Amino acid sequence: MLLLSALVLAFGTYTYLGMQHYLVSDLQTTLARRAAQITDYVVNRPPRMSDAQIINEIKILYAPEANDRFIRITRDDGSVLYISGTPKDLSFDPAGINNITSNVPAQRSELTVNNNRLYIAAITTSPVGNNRQHYIVEVGTSDRQIQSALHGLLATLAIGFPVLLVLAAGGAYLLIERSLTPVTTIMNAAEDISLHNLSSRLPIAATGDKLEHLSRALNRMITRLDEAFQQASRFTADASHELRTPLTIMRGELEFIAQQSHLPADLREQIGSLLEETERLTHITEGLLAIARLEAGEAKVERSVFDLGVLATITAEQMQLLAEEKQIALRVSADQDVKVGGDPARIKQVIVNLLDNALKYTPENGAIDIRVVNADGHAILNVSDTGVGIPKQHLPHIFERFYRADKMRGRAGGAGLGLSIVRSICTAHGGTVQAESTPGQGSRFTVILELARSDPSIEAALV
Ligand code: ADP
Repeated sequence: MLLLSALVLAFGTYTYLGMQHYLVSDLQTTLARRAAQITDYVVNRPPRMSDAQIINEIKILYAPEANDRFIRITRDDGSVLYISGTPKDLSFDPAGINNITSNVPAQRSELTVNNNRLYIAAITTSPVGNNRQHYIVEVGTSDRQIQSALHGLLATLAIGFPVLLVLAAGGAYLLIERSLTPVTTIMNAAEDISLHNLSSRLPIAATGDKLEHLSRALNRMITRLDEAFQQASRFTADASHELRTPLTIMRGELEFIAQQSHLPADLREQIGSLLEETERLTHITEGLLAIARLEAGEAKVERSVFDLGVLATITAEQMQLLAEEKQIALRVSADQDVKVGGDPARIKQVIVNLLDNALKYTPENGAIDIRVVNADGHAILNVSDTGVGIPKQHLPHIFERFYRADKMRGRAGGAGLGLSIVRSICTAHGGTVQAESTPGQGSRFTVILELARSDPSIEAALV
């Protein structure tokens, strides 16, 4: 708009100045032509025609007063043969206009009389008649007409340009809006595509231009991403699957050795520690396999309807012993009938992982609260603790695989897969999980799931 305004202004100024120049030069040409015609009359009059007759003819032909013109014919001795009267528009006083003094054959001049600009064309004739007399013929007019034409132009421009600008702006807005609609559609679709629905594609804007190429190129990119992501998931799933069997065998063998009675104490201890590490490895492998399957959408989420409040209460009861060991108060409060659809075993895993973390990161004499509510048409599960909390810089990453906020805690913490599993299960159920935390005061995890329309025939028994 600024650029357009500047262009319009420049164009307006150019038009105004151009018009002014054209009008002035046109006027001067007309005046010079009139002066030449009058000179012709005076010089080439029939021999017997008197000055009075000439003057009369000029008055009739040119009517200077009615046409707001100035005509003066002066002899070379300075006496005036004819001078026109006051013009109709009173723009100048003929008597106040100085005589032309030079003897140049033709000249143009501009004067200022009574605040009006006056344009005059003057011609000095060659000697005429027996007494070889020169005449100076002056024809002039004020610039009033030019000024009023220019004012008219200015008014037209002043009204026309804002209208033009508004129309141009409106038109441009509509055009841009229209041409950007496919971009907005592509943008919204792109926003919706995440790791979990990489199989979707962007709509193709069939515009036949760069936009269509762009949407096709983006789709090809998403396909490549999808393939790469699936490959990575498949690799993780395959690798963890392949590790399971040797790990089970190792564990079995180690357990068998540990049961031998004649083992020296230090060897027994070493085998015990090996067994612990094998357990850990098995745990990690199982976790990775679970995440990979959930993310690849391979693990079929068993669909049944169950009460989230009941599931949370049962799970909390089962973990009560662990809480008591650390003198942590584990409290549950649940709304009635918060029914969700999905796989109760997996949702239970969510609760177990969250409680496990809360117990792990809450010092003795702390408290853990589980709340299940039905709010805004969603089932909401809150697990809050009075533990060490999570520093702000770690909060956005804690759901990533193998991410641990405090690596210095060493092996006391898990491998950093617990929350990844929580998120994968929530996503597979069409839900979300978020974390808030104040370091030193505690953390709060919120799982939001869709409420299920209760159907007793598929309600799962929660044991
Ligand atoms: P880990 O097996 O290490 O607990 P998680 O994926 O369960 O892995 O958690 C990731 C990290 O998030 C943890 O290492 C810990 O730093 C932080 N975290 C998770 N839950 C809590 C909590 N309730 N209080 C404090 N920190 C937590």
